[in-house]
Amino acid sequence: MPDPGGVVLRRAAVVTPHGLIRSGYVVIEGGVITSVGEEPYRSAEGLEELDLGGLTVGPGFIDTHIHGALGVDLVKATVEEIAKLSEELPRFGVTSFVPTSVALPREDLVRFCRRVLEASGRAGGARILGIHLEGPFLNPEMAGAQNPEYVRPADVSELEELVKASGGLVRSVTVAPEVDGALKLVRSAAVKGIVVQIGHTKATYSKTVEALIAGASKATHLYNAMSGIHHRSPGAALALLRADNAHLELIVDFVHVVPEVVGFTIDYAGHRRVVLVTDSIAATGLPDGTYELGDVRVEVAGGIARLAGKEILAGSTLTMDRAFRNVLSLGYRLDQAFYMASRAPAESLGMASELGTIAPGRRADLVILGSDMSVAATFVGGRLVYAREDFAGSVARG
Ligand SMILES: [Zn+2]
Repeated sequence: MPDPGGVVLRRAAVVTPHGLIRSGYVVIEGGVITSVGEEPYRSAEGLEELDLGGLTVGPGFIDTHIHGALGVDLVKATVEEIAKLSEELPRFGVTSFVPTSVALPREDLVRFCRRVLEASGRAGGARILGIHLEGPFLNPEMAGAQNPEYVRPADVSELEELVKASGGLVRSVTVAPEVDGALKLVRSAAVKGIVVQIGHTKATYSKTVEALIAGASKATHLYNAMSGIHHRSPGAALALLRADNAHLELIVDFVHVVPEVVGFTIDYAGHRRVVLVTDSIAATGLPDGTYELGDVRVEVAGGIARLAGKEILAGSTLTMDRAFRNVLSLGYRLDQAFYMASRAPAESLGMASELGTIAPGRRADLVILGSDMSVAATFVGGRLVYAREDFAGSVARG
């Protein structure tokens, strides 16, 4: 398989930040994109060439909110299991991800942070970009599928302990603005460069604006587990929608948010602010049945995950490639879908200068799509980490 030393992907439809190149090439050297252009490519010596025969090349998908997949529950997983998941996610076109916690006892969160740190050094597939603490600083009444017993007031010293345990890998923290200590924690996290997300909240419109002014910049699964839009009592969702610079996580499985509201959100906020996430749990990619999310039991029927015996949605079994295709099915353009699946996630974490687009200087994290927009192959740092069975047969080497 191609050496990270140098490969040219040729005769591909290339999705760039400045438009689609119908027949183009991407040069990768030392794991980084060094040149992008329209065919014909003028051969340079020493670089292997792969003729993609018209397949589409886009920036790899970045999942910034994921609890697990393929039997791995990230908060319970061993270092080896986390590293294994990194190797499996590229089959969904994912080239980097942010392992996400639920509310748990403090010592369990410390252990989770340590394990992700250790796994990040060994992840041989999708990159681990950081940790998202989705809990414990939530409103217990809006815990959703999380165990309200472990939800607690915002505590700067606990956040500091977790950041330390993670070796600085904590990149996002979800906070409900109305809980005790929330605004202090928002300010403290923002100063440290940690992305503060608003979620699992009953906050009023004005309380949410206060948290945004204090430094919050992103919504945790907009609409889900959040005070919604009522014309006499607008809540967190409307404040976040109207905050021009806030990124908005959206679970586009058409179950958490119906297609009409997905469309409204993209049309109103613009595709540049929408961050597709999976919020996926261990059951993802596996048959219906009973699974765990942290220490709560989850029943999956027809691919929909709910708390055992209840109607409450408990994460999803969504994958990034499906979220991407769902957005396309609503009529949005290819470049807009890639923006929401790759670039906006990178921007929301302040990492867009490294990841999320196909441009010289960016890491060569790429997804190759077939004509039906299914994942044919995935590259991380210029290395082929996933290839569907038919991929080798569909490309020609030179
Ligand atoms: Zn979640």
